[in-house]
Amino acid sequence: GRTLHWFRNDLRLADNPALLAAVAGGPTLCLYILDTGPDRRPIGGASRWWLSRSLDALGEALARRHGRLVLMKGDPAELLPRVAAEAGINRVTWNRRYEAKEIALDSRLKEALSGNGIDVSSFNGHLLNEPWQVTTTTGQPMKVFTPYWRAARQKGEPAAPIAAPARIPAFSLPDSIEALTVSLDDLGRAPRKPDWAGGLRAAWTPGESGAAERLDDFLGSGLSGYAEDRDRPDRAATSRLSPHLHFGEIGPRQVWHALHHARATGEAAGSEQDAEKFLSEIGWREFSHHLLFHNPELATRNYDSRFDAFPWLPDEAALHRWQRGQTGIPLVDAGMRELWTTGWMHNRVRMVVASFLIKHLLQDWRAGEAWFWDTLVDADAANNAASWQWVAGSGADASPYFRIFNPVTQGETHDPHGAYVRQWVPELAGLSDKDIHQPWKASEKALREAGIRIGETYPAPLVDLAFGRQRALDAFAAIRNG
Ligand code: FAD
Repeated sequence: GRTLHWFRNDLRLADNPALLAAVAGGPTLCLYILDTGPDRRPIGGASRWWLSRSLDALGEALARRHGRLVLMKGDPAELLPRVAAEAGINRVTWNRRYEAKEIALDSRLKEALSGNGIDVSSFNGHLLNEPWQVTTTTGQPMKVFTPYWRAARQKGEPAAPIAAPARIPAFSLPDSIEALTVSLDDLGRAPRKPDWAGGLRAAWTPGESGAAERLDDFLGSGLSGYAEDRDRPDRAATSRLSPHLHFGEIGPRQVWHALHHARATGEAAGSEQDAEKFLSEIGWREFSHHLLFHNPELATRNYDSRFDAFPWLPDEAALHRWQRGQTGIPLVDAGMRELWTTGWMHNRVRMVVASFLIKHLLQDWRAGEAWFWDTLVDADAANNAASWQWVAGSGADASPYFRIFNPVTQGETHDPHGAYVRQWVPELAGLSDKDIHQPWKASEKALREAGIRIGETYPAPLVDLAFGRQRALDAFAAIRNG
């Protein structure tokens, strides 16, 4: 037989159940389609950059196993049935995905292909538990993280990861199919500007082996102290696995088992508490996918519909200054510049910049979600939407709206020596640890000595923090009773 494995967000060879099933069925056509179909949210710029590198790495890994990665661009609803028919495919495999439009497309395709006598098999390669496998005792979707994660943990250990197939032989394609293939450059590999992606290149190694190295490094040196240090943006204390997990260059079962193996053999120095805290973050990823699956409009609609009446104050200029890291609030600006330069931002700072945009500036969380979607290398329909709604207070199990992060005290607590701010907002580097999180309060002498003129070399705060906080509380009071 001839099989086709359709790669989506499972850009790896190891622990890829759908790929393994395909290869067991005979020579395999490994296909990736950049989906430009109608009605699909295009992936953002940073994700495009990552994707093309990841596909490059995947293509090389396949070639080493006598395989070939075939790239196409277009609407999978048209391309896949055509390729399957013309290449004489009798089995198609893929790993499942969880956005409503993707699910609808996959179901339509399954029906169309099966109708043509082609066997279609789907697998779970992306999550520890499928979103429908974890429920309340009465079978309902879960709405609160702690019981969700408790119930998920009670399901026991995830299956052991499976090894990459040793050989993934390809077969030659008819000319009509070859004519549909595109190169990586056609998928947008070339950076938009000469060195648009320099900061991304310096920070990341997309692909399966980059992901494995990142995990090894983290288990070897990062896990120890994770439970406390994960909130410190001035320390590289978290795994930075998020883009690798998003694109499926590594799967959560692999992470789980690697963690337990490293702790059992003494390769990982972390405590039980560090390990549990780290796994619970993987749990938040699972929970976000659970929420997205059961609430398909998570990225566009308030989970708590009281927020539909929220009095947002749309302000393009303020939004622009937030996007560029020019708000005059050092921790916010540091985070937004880290994001712009590296495609990633520390979780604690993501919460602070999101809270500042939504609460102090009264901008609709969806404007922030959209900016993150375009600029994050880990931009993820589930994690991004669930996290923005969590900060907004409109989400499931959300932080209450009235808990408004103060970006100055957040900075003093989590970046106590200002090292993170100094790295990303170098024009403030000369200030003392005390002044660096609120330069507008520094003495004239301190500012002069640090070479800073507020409003010229660094902006004055876009909003007075006490005023912004009160205005946000008043806005919330207007909707709180529905
Ligand atoms: P680690 O601390 O090492 O955690 C390990 C893994 O757990 C992460 O790689 C990630 O897959 C998962 N994880 C950790 N925290 C969360 C969380 N709060 N929610 C869901 N999964 C989590 N994460 C994304 O992957 N994509 C996004 O688009 C995204 N958008 C966010 C937007 C906002 C406003 C906020 C507050 C958070 C967002 N997060 C998002 C969650 C979190 O910030 C990142 O997953 C984390 O910072 C990634 O760094 P890490 O891999 O070093 O995390």
